[in-house]
Amino acid sequence: MKTDIEIAQQATLKPIEQIAEQLELAEEDWEPFGRTKAKISDRLLQKLEDKPDGKVILVTSINPTPAGEGKSTVAVGLGQALNKIGKKAIIALREPSLGPVMGIKGGAAGGGYSQVLPMEEINLHFTGDLHAITAANNLLAAIIDNHIHQGNALNIDPRRIEWKRVMDMNDRSLRNIIVGLGGPKQGSPREDHFQITVASEIMAILCLAKDLEDLKERLSNIVIGYTYDEQPVQVRDLEVEGALTLLLKDAIKPNLVQTTENTPAIIHGGPFANIAHGCNSIMATKTAQKLADYVVTEAGFGADLGAEKFLDIKSRIGKIRTDAVVIVATIRALKMHGGVPKDALKEENLEALKEGVKNLQKHIETIKHFGLPFVVAINKFPTDTEQELEWVERWCLEQDIDVALTDVWGKGGEGGILLAKKVVEKAASPQTFQPIYELEDSLEAKIRKIAQIVYGAKDIELSPKAQQQIAYYEKQGWGNLPVCMAKTQYSLSDDPKKIGRPENFMIHIRELKPSVGAGFIVVLTGDVMTMPGLPKKPAALNMNVENSGKITGLF
Ligand code: ADP
Repeated sequence: MKTDIEIAQQATLKPIEQIAEQLELAEEDWEPFGRTKAKISDRLLQKLEDKPDGKVILVTSINPTPAGEGKSTVAVGLGQALNKIGKKAIIALREPSLGPVMGIKGGAAGGGYSQVLPMEEINLHFTGDLHAITAANNLLAAIIDNHIHQGNALNIDPRRIEWKRVMDMNDRSLRNIIVGLGGPKQGSPREDHFQITVASEIMAILCLAKDLEDLKERLSNIVIGYTYDEQPVQVRDLEVEGALTLLLKDAIKPNLVQTTENTPAIIHGGPFANIAHGCNSIMATKTAQKLADYVVTEAGFGADLGAEKFLDIKSRIGKIRTDAVVIVATIRALKMHGGVPKDALKEENLEALKEGVKNLQKHIETIKHFGLPFVVAINKFPTDTEQELEWVERWCLEQDIDVALTDVWGKGGEGGILLAKKVVEKAASPQTFQPIYELEDSLEAKIRKIAQIVYGAKDIELSPKAQQQIAYYEKQGWGNLPVCMAKTQYSLSDDPKKIGRPENFMIHIRELKPSVGAGFIVVLTGDVMTMPGLPKKPAALNMNVENSGKITGLF
């Protein structure tokens, strides 16, 4: 069996100008970035304002397990399949972060015969957007420390600085640090912290901005910390929004690439769905809607995280209508949710499936609550047995749930034709969309609704710190913002060990963080971290580049 990188290296890519031509882009609408990547103009959306929008298909999944679900693979395969049945489709995905690529995940550009290419570049530095975000984030950190060093005219309390430095790497040793050591000429000592770049509020802002002007406005609204008398200090007080916008002037332009079957794909922005809002940029999705009749987009991790935030945050801010949802499940992952350890997944186990399917059931209930039409896609793995596949199909049909067995990993678009046909049908059916909460709900009510309706929790438990923060935020007028939950991806609860469909559990709210620039309040549950660490054997140990330039080990 060929590896993802071997398949990617054998694919024939079209020059990117042919993809741009296929999308009828004019010369001023795009610029090449090498031979197989391009940047789309950030002004194209405005130019095509009056063009009707294509339909949006959201791909989500059950809670991930170490067995892998293949959400990106199915999203890419579905886009290819839609083209195969004669529909004009584009795929809109997130950009991978180097941290997980080097850590446990390996590549994040789909898999098998459903990949976005050039996968080596997409997985490494791509078009430099993440580096630009790192630079902008750290410029702001440097400006804050310099402001204090130069006399602290704004009266910033160094103990109440919320802004953290970032790096696009998993590096646990930088979670808690002291900066400014070395005496009066080296700055003012204080406790500081590093997060991974994708957790930066600037990443969220880039993904939620409508255009360059909106980007600048959101950057200027960032709250970096508080004064000694506990008043918020914003970027606009430091007068640095202009320079931050300047550093992001190219990163704001969506990136155009293609799939293994030359289907156009826009890859832009990459917040994680466990510690951030987990969706590609609004500009990418909306631009794609102007260029095609169907946009297949993915939100990170399970429907409890990515899809909830796609529908409650991104769609609300971007006024995006979702026409249909695909919920991806695999036999392997369902068996893991039923208690089977990773090394026993090859054996047929219908009993475990029966238990594990309860996790899928919960996510189906969530999408039903949103009022959206959906299809369950079973992403077929070579080890699945006929009996197991039949069992899950029957389970779906017994409950009147539309299901499509897909093999886009093994067969490319051809393996997703049934799914594509079902999606087209669903996207044409009526819907009665309703968000999980209203913006007017109190912060506590919003958190409770997500915990009870989406996670199936008994209730929430607010720490004293969280209670104080909620009262303070509401006094500041931030109570009407949506909430962005930071929670483990592995469980519906805040305990990663509670797989399947846990019941009777509480969601523990540790603390909150105002992302006033992005336009939401981050709610940290359990002990979720915004700077991941590396595992005992990082994926990086398998990677190499040969003298010929050939890359190996990047999955
Ligand atoms: P997600 O988006 O859910 O994180 P990906 O689509 O990135 O998952 O897939 C994760 C890994 O699993 C990739 O290496 C991919 O090649 C592999 N994979 C996905 N689907 C299949 C499948 N049907 N058969 C075998 N491997 C698969």
